[in-house]
Amino acid sequence: MNVTTGVDAHEGEGRTADLPERYARTRREVAELAVRHGRKPEEVRIVAVSKYQPAASVATLAEAGQRDFGENYVQEALAKQREIRRPDLRWHFLGRLQRNKAKYLPGNFILFHGLDNAALALDLHGKFQAKSQVLDVLIQVNLGDEPQKGGVTPEELPALAEHVGGLSGLALRGLMALPPFELDLARKQRLFGELRRLRDAVQRQTGLWLPELSMGTTGDFPQAIAEGATMVRIGTRIFGERPARVSP
Ligand SMILES: *Cc1c(COP(=O)(O)O)cnc(C)c1O
Repeated sequence: MNVTTGVDAHEGEGRTADLPERYARTRREVAELAVRHGRKPEEVRIVAVSKYQPAASVATLAEAGQRDFGENYVQEALAKQREIRRPDLRWHFLGRLQRNKAKYLPGNFILFHGLDNAALALDLHGKFQAKSQVLDVLIQVNLGDEPQKGGVTPEELPALAEHVGGLSGLALRGLMALPPFELDLARKQRLFGELRRLRDAVQRQTGLWLPELSMGTTGDFPQAIAEGATMVRIGTRIFGERPARVSP
């Protein structure tokens, strides 16, 4: 066991060896789905979710042409960024961000998928404005009626969108959702359609241009693309099963 990556050396090699093939297959699938639903392949971007994956796997995927990577933990992401040293990679922050971690986003992440409260928006605005930078953000919407998960309710969305729209350190680019894992695919697809309609409505109400819909993971990206996803966040299908979490 390698203590820095938490990955068995042999297992790590196997995973890295399969990667280009798994990645090529996923790209083909996403491109075919995009075309089937009347869009160009480049209109559906793959964010490769590399949480818990070793830096070597990210580097292998970057060699294969992937540029967008999604991470859920700031310290883990920053360690990988330092190890890989490729300024051409675009790092996305996914999910819940603690307010005391807002200071780590400027210069390190290009898009935050998961904004869900006004206090965090203000913190991020402050950190980015102080550096004369702007963070692109997606508001996470809780579509599954699950109070413990992140995300605003559809009712809370317009007010948060207006709030973010008034902060010069943030640029609202669209919406993000992560439906409850256990729902069946037909139900998930309805929720993805609901997110698209909510986006259309907020766009009309606020006059903001919100082109991005970040929705769909390994288990449900075909349904998300059918409903207009512009970014799919895919981990397991590309990388294989996640290794156990490395403590930060
Ligand atoms: C982990 C994660 C993913 C990727 O999930 P897979 O099932 O491995 O594709 C996508 N989005 C978010 C917010 C995640 O936390």
